[in-house]
Amino acid sequence: MQSNDVLIIGAGIVGLATAYQLLKAKPSLKLLILEKEKEVGLHQTGRNSGVIHSGVYYKPGSLKAKNCLEGRKALLQFCEEQEIPTQKLGKVIIATKAEELGKLLDIAERGRLNGVQGLELIGPERLKEIEPHVSALQALWVPECHVVHFGTVASRLAQAVRALGGEIALETEVTGIKNAVVETSRQTYHAGTLINCAGLFSDRIARLSKEKVEHQILPFRGEYFELSKRELVNGLIYPVPNPKFPFLGVHLTRRIDGSVEAGPNAVLAFAREGYRKRDFNGRDCLEYLKYPGFWKMAGRYGSVGLYELYRSFRKRAFLKDVQKLIPAIEEKDLASGGSGVRAQVVTRDGKLLDDFALLQEGKRYHVLNAPSPAATASFAIGRFIAHEVLCTR
Ligand SMILES: Cc1cc2nc3c(=O)[nH]c(=O)nc-3n(C[C@H](O)[C@H](O)[C@H](O)COP(=O)(O)OP(=O)(O)OC[C@H]3O[C@@H](n4cnc5c(N)ncnc54)[C@H](O)[C@@H]3O)c2cc1C
Repeated sequence: MQSNDVLIIGAGIVGLATAYQLLKAKPSLKLLILEKEKEVGLHQTGRNSGVIHSGVYYKPGSLKAKNCLEGRKALLQFCEEQEIPTQKLGKVIIATKAEELGKLLDIAERGRLNGVQGLELIGPERLKEIEPHVSALQALWVPECHVVHFGTVASRLAQAVRALGGEIALETEVTGIKNAVVETSRQTYHAGTLINCAGLFSDRIARLSKEKVEHQILPFRGEYFELSKRELVNGLIYPVPNPKFPFLGVHLTRRIDGSVEAGPNAVLAFAREGYRKRDFNGRDCLEYLKYPGFWKMAGRYGSVGLYELYRSFRKRAFLKDVQKLIPAIEEKDLASGGSGVRAQVVTRDGKLLDDFALLQEGKRYHVLNAPSPAATASFAIGRFIAHEVLCTR
C-alpha cells in the first residue's frame, strides 16, 4: 500500500490549485492526486465559459465574494508567470426593462462593497460605445473582467504540481474509503490527509468516507450556441440575473480564441456527466428522485426549470432570450456548440445552495459546493485548504 501525507481526489482546477498551494507552502509533502480520467480538467474545468469573474454578484462577506476577488488576483498572476493568454474584455450587465433597474443597482452596490474596481452605471449612449449592437435602459460596466481557457490553466497547474514533487495518478478512480485507506480501480493508498475535490461526485465521495452529508449534488447542464457573426460582440454581455437562481442567465461571451458563445442555459441533466440531452444514468436519477430536497426544489423552482427544459429543445425560445441582448442576432447565426454540467448542491429543503461549502471531519476535507465562480476562485480556495491542512497536521 502506498502511503502519502496528502491525497487529493480529483484533478479539476480546485484539486490542482489545492495541490499547488500545499506544495508551494511545504515542498517536502508527499502528495498524490487521484483522477479517474485520462487527462486533467476534463469535466467542469474544461467545459465552462472561461470567464475570470470580477466578483460583482456575490453577497458581501460570502465565501464566493472573498475567494473570487482573492482568487482572480492569484490566477491572473499565475497566468502571467506561465504566459497563459488572458484578455481583459470587460463586461456589461444590461437592464432592458424598468423592473430590472433596481436589481442592477443592487448588483452595483454588491460589487462596490466587495471591492470590485472601476464599476460604472452607464446610459444607452456610453453602452453603444462599448457594445454598439446592444440597447438597454441602463447597464453596469465591469471593466475588471477577463477571459482565459481554464483547461490550459489546469494543464499548467498539473505541470507545476509535478515540478514541485507532487504526483498525479490518471485513470485511477476512487471506489472505496475506509478511514485513512483509499481504494481505487488500480491499487490501495494510505492518506495522512484526504482532500475531496471530486466536483460532480464530491457528495458521493464524502458518503464513501462515511461523512454525514445532508445535501445532494444535482447536475445542471449548460448548453451553448456558437455565434457566427462574431463582430456583433466585443466583450461579455449579460442580462440582469434572476436573484432567486444562482445561475447568471444566458449571456454572450467572446472567448480567448476570438469565438463568441451564447449560453449557457441551466437544464437538470439525467446523468452527473450528462453532456448530451440523451445521456441517462439510472443510478444518478434514482438517487436524486429519492432525495426529498429534489421534490421540494421542483416545487420551489418548477416553472423556471420547465422553461429551461423548453428552451433547451426550442432554439427559437433560446434565440428570443439572446435577442434581448442583441436584437440583430438571427436564428441562422446560432449553431449548436458545446456543453458543461454544473455540480450544484440542493439542500434538504429544496434550495440551490448559493455559497461554496467545505466540510471538515478530522483530517478529511470535502469541497462539497464549488460551482461558478470556483474556477476563478480556485487559487484562493486552494490556499485556504492548504492553510487549514498545514495548521492542523
Ligand atoms: C457551463 C459552466 C460554465 C461555467 N463558467 C464559469 C466561468 O466562466 N468562470 C468560472 O470561474 N467558473 C465557471 N464555471 C464553474 C467552474 O467550471 C467550476 O466551478 C470548477 O471548474 C470546479 O472545479 P472542480 O475542480 O471542483 O471540478 P471538476 O473540474 O469537475 O473536477 C473534478 C474532478 O474530479 C474527478 N473525479 C470525480 N470522481 C472521481 C473519483 N471517484 N475518482 C477520481 N477522480 C474523480 C473528475 O474526473 C474531475 O476531473 C462554470 C461551470 C459550468 C459547468
